[in-house]
Amino acid sequence: MQTYQHWINGAYVEPASGTWLDTIDPYRGDAWAKVPRGNAQDAARAVDAATRAMESGPWSKMTATERGKIMRRIGDLTVQYAERLAQVETRDNGKLSAEMQGQLKTIPEYWYYYGGLADKIEGAVMPVEEHDVLAYTTHEPVGVVAALTAWNSPLQFLALKCAPALAAGCAVVVKPSEFASASSLEFAALTKEAGLPDGVLNVVTGLGAEIGAALVEHPGVAKISFTGSDVTGTRIYETAARSMKRVSMELGGKSPNIVFEDADLEAAAIGVMSGIFGAAGQMCIAGSRLLVQNSIKAAFTERLIDIAHGIKLGDPMHPETNVGPIATPPQFQKVLHYIDVAKAEGARCILGGKPAVGTGLTGGQFVEPTIFTDVTNNMRIAQEEVFGPVLSIIGFDDEQKAVALANDVVYGLVAGVWTEDMARAVRMTKTLKTGTVWVNTYRTYSFMMPFGGMKKSGMGRENGIEAVYEYLETKSVFLSVASAPANPFVQR
Ligand code: NAD
Repeated sequence: MQTYQHWINGAYVEPASGTWLDTIDPYRGDAWAKVPRGNAQDAARAVDAATRAMESGPWSKMTATERGKIMRRIGDLTVQYAERLAQVETRDNGKLSAEMQGQLKTIPEYWYYYGGLADKIEGAVMPVEEHDVLAYTTHEPVGVVAALTAWNSPLQFLALKCAPALAAGCAVVVKPSEFASASSLEFAALTKEAGLPDGVLNVVTGLGAEIGAALVEHPGVAKISFTGSDVTGTRIYETAARSMKRVSMELGGKSPNIVFEDADLEAAAIGVMSGIFGAAGQMCIAGSRLLVQNSIKAAFTERLIDIAHGIKLGDPMHPETNVGPIATPPQFQKVLHYIDVAKAEGARCILGGKPAVGTGLTGGQFVEPTIFTDVTNNMRIAQEEVFGPVLSIIGFDDEQKAVALANDVVYGLVAGVWTEDMARAVRMTKTLKTGTVWVNTYRTYSFMMPFGGMKKSGMGRENGIEAVYEYLETKSVFLSVASAPANPFVQR
């Protein structure tokens, strides 16, 4: 069994506690590696290393162009080590190997994109009303960043946070989920090979309530970039407020996939499937509510069931597997619990609804692709995030009702709209209260396009140029060129 160490100040180091956590392969159901159980001492060590890197290390003296070059080398090395990183992550969280191959084509692009952006972060000279003042803005790194990430795509989250943070000139301490830390720990070493100075990117592991909380409370951390549940996010936000730390939050969702009678129904059915059964529904963007026009509801539901019958559950390493296991034992229990809740609330289970068993599934925590109908939007199954392969179907008569249903949740991450009527599509993009609206597509994503949530789905944006400003402070400079002193009693 492999035993990992924290990555602090450019080296692997043992946890101060001298203890490790087992990390479980969710397909085989056995422990395959150990990751350090970090504590407040480890958090402090990593924050100190990051602070030194930012304040006095080589990173602090580099030009933005030099920083960008190192970041692009990190992109190159991610390409070189892609296969190994993909294997580790699949082993750790059960994400399909096929999906990891795709993610590892995109992850290097973050490093290239933000590496390229590093020396294009420009201030502005303002034509202020005073003639004898030169007024301009600069952007400075916000400080040490704590990046806390969820278990469903740790390497991607690391890139989403660290690439813009490093472009901004920050140093980062990453704390991946205790359920899937190995890929982040392996990735860390390649940043050194790329020439990243020691202490700029640290990875520490352990429980959220221990080392995670210690990072959030550490006075040396200026910014918290969090991806996880809204419950944890709220707690972190409250703690961060006490010391006015900056936060960005990528939280959960209860996203609607809205299908109108005039849609290309075959494309819509595929989109709905990918939105809820892709990654076994363990996606913040899961389209867990299907809002479908009543005129086509019965036929469309039949079509979904037909397609769902063809889904292959199995070994995530196998190229023909469509749906892998649920990544963690608590998540497995949570999904099954919500299935019970839905049944008790009166929703009708028309597909699945129980753990999947059979050849090739032993040892794994599999849930059958599950569909509920007769769901009303006020049921818990329509309001609360399940984070599993469970779809709730709700009918609507007209566009107005569809929008009302779509927006009637505390979340606002993404929405899908399926219609051939482009005027309606444009209207919907304006009225849906979500950070992303997909029209006639679902799960489309780009490192160039801002991503983030409205309402309880979070705050701030990742991806695109916007993300770099999450890691910058704007400074205003007034430089007097006046020849005579100013009147001290009158504001200029
Ligand atoms: P989680 O909130 O349990 O944990 C997220 C991270 O926070 C982990 O690293 C965990 O160790 C840490 N943590 C937990 N308690 C903490 C505390 N008190 N202080 C500091 N850190 C703490 O979430 P999860 O179960 O790992 O992930 C699933 C959730 O993530 C879902 O709600 C999902 O929607 C959300 N998510 C959101 C996005 C997005 O981009 N919006 C993407 C993926 C996942």
